[in-house]
Amino acid sequence: MLSVKEAQEKVINSKVTIKPKKTTILESLHNILAEELVSKDFIPAFDNSAVDGYAVKAIDILGAEKNYPVKLKLFKEDIPAGKSSSFSLEPGMCIQIMTGAPIPQGCDCVVMKEDALKEGKDVLVFRECRQGENIRYKGEDVSQGDIVLKKGSKIYPADIGLMASVGISEITINTPPLVGVISTGDELIDVGQNLAFGKVRDSNSYSLAAQIIESGAQYKRYGIVPDDKPSIKKKIMEGLQQCEILILTGGVSVGDYDFVKEILDDIGAEFVFWRVNQMPGKPLAFLTYKDRFIFGLPGNPVSVMICFEMYVRPLIKKFLGDKNLFRDKIQARALEDYDHIEGRTDFVRVYLENTEDGIYFKHTGMQGSGILRSMSVADGIAVFPEDRGKIEKDSTIDVIILKQ
Ligand code: AMP
Ligand code: MG
Repeated sequence: MLSVKEAQEKVINSKVTIKPKKTTILESLHNILAEELVSKDFIPAFDNSAVDGYAVKAIDILGAEKNYPVKLKLFKEDIPAGKSSSFSLEPGMCIQIMTGAPIPQGCDCVVMKEDALKEGKDVLVFRECRQGENIRYKGEDVSQGDIVLKKGSKIYPADIGLMASVGISEITINTPPLVGVISTGDELIDVGQNLAFGKVRDSNSYSLAAQIIESGAQYKRYGIVPDDKPSIKKKIMEGLQQCEILILTGGVSVGDYDFVKEILDDIGAEFVFWRVNQMPGKPLAFLTYKDRFIFGLPGNPVSVMICFEMYVRPLIKKFLGDKNLFRDKIQARALEDYDHIEGRTDFVRVYLENTEDGIYFKHTGMQGSGILRSMSVADGIAVFPEDRGKIEKDSTIDVIILKQ
């Protein structure tokens, strides 16, 4: 049986075809840029004032102090943002200027309003100013010809603002893959239905759809399919036509009604691996079919989510062209002793607690693979590695951060 690390390596070594697509900048948040963006403009496009105040020549107010203000003649018009002025400074003069307005001819600094006092047609300046003080120079943010964003960068809100500021409204990103979800099981009903005896609501296709969105891909739910070979096969073929990645839940263990593996074999999908030495989520299948990828996940709600985190998410990130295929981990210490069997990786849902002695983890209670609350309340997943036995109190373990 493969170890977690071996299985993850097989997934991330898969050959995926990254396809570019055009999109608007607002649609591009958290996607990966597929081109280099170069600015055609200088930003700012002109020297402008960083404050509301008076544009002056520094030499005219040399020595100005609280008790020895310098008196300057005020030009009759001011310069609001968005307007320019034909004013050309002469010695001993100043002009009122607003934040963002172009610096007029001859001025080399701006006195803040708070450091001056208007007295009729004059202005008293109470502080001297360095040349360039309170001026934002043309091109100081972005110069014409600058690379604004590199190919392969992940797009965050500030990047979207930056693109807008240099006049870029459309860009090319790596197309997020479409990930299909099929829930199999005779016992399954949809969320709106009442729980008749023996029935179970299909939560997997919901948690998976949410995980797909969170990882930056698009989802398609194919609904519930009963444990019936022809129906499952038909849905799989439909899903494989449309989706780059297809996830099936339920029906991959060894029960009498577990057909999924058999069908995938029938249609000629190639098994990359089947079963991973982990808990929960051991009976997990990863296959390829032409250029498509298929995950056959066990039905238990926690197993499904853990398998998604460990194997599906990295594959989606690969499709996106994201350099970070895995979630961030932190090192946390055990708040108590934990039993663990050496030779298998356990994924334990944990709370995290910040203390003076560092970050501690504590399990979230019952850890059954059907107990979805153990996942819902968890801050992270502690990885008890296969090369360690009992996890002693205070010892350090990697914890994958699930929530921010
Ligand atoms: P299976 O892998 O099909 O043997 O299912 C394992 C367990 O997971 C059973 O208790 C199922 O009822 C449950 N289960 C299977 N599919 C789902 C689903 N889509 N949503 C919630 N629970 C499920
Ligand atoms: Mg089943």
